[in-house]
Amino acid sequence: MSLMITDDCSSCGACEPECPNQAISEGEDHYRVNPDLCTECVGFFGEPQCTSACPTESVVPDPDRKESQEALLAKFKQLHPDKEPVLS
Ligand code: SF4
Repeated sequence: MSLMITDDCSSCGACEPECPNQAISEGEDHYRVNPDLCTECVGFFGEPQCTSACPTESVVPDPDRKESQEALLAKFKQLHPDKEPVLS
């Protein structure tokens, strides 16, 4: 499941550098997650890095984009064909 950033985002930008997939960017009104790039940090870390970086708890699972662990790992491999995934 990709994560999403809600309207509670204060646009502090703390999440952006934490993302290993460069999935986070500044949007018109607040930061956004590109669901095609978000692996929930699968392949890099055991838990989403942006969630813990966010001071307003605005990064949440996107209920419209549910993906299994296998699908997230496949996305990681597609995005990073030369990298070995860190399995947690
Ligand atoms: Fe990036 Fe991980 Fe957050 Fe997804 S969960 S946006 S991959 S930091």
